[in-house]
Amino acid sequence: MPIDPVCWMHVDRTTELKNGYNGQTYYFCSLKCKKEFEKAPDKCLGVKSSMKMPD
Ligand SMILES: [Zn+2]
Repeated sequence: MPIDPVCWMHVDRTTELKNGYNGQTYYFCSLKCKKEFEKAPDKCLGVKSSMKMPD
C-alpha cells in the first residue's frame, strides 16, 4: 500500500490523487496533501531521505 509522502498516511492505490515525480508515482490522501507536495516535492521527500539541515 502506498504512503502519502506529506502526512505518511497509507493511501489506496486506486486514488485519483497521485503525482509523478522523479520517475516515481506518489499517492495522496487528500487534495490538500497533493497541493502541498506539488508546492515543494523535494521538501516533502527530503524529510525521510535526509536528516541534513539546510545551511
Ligand atoms: Zn495526506
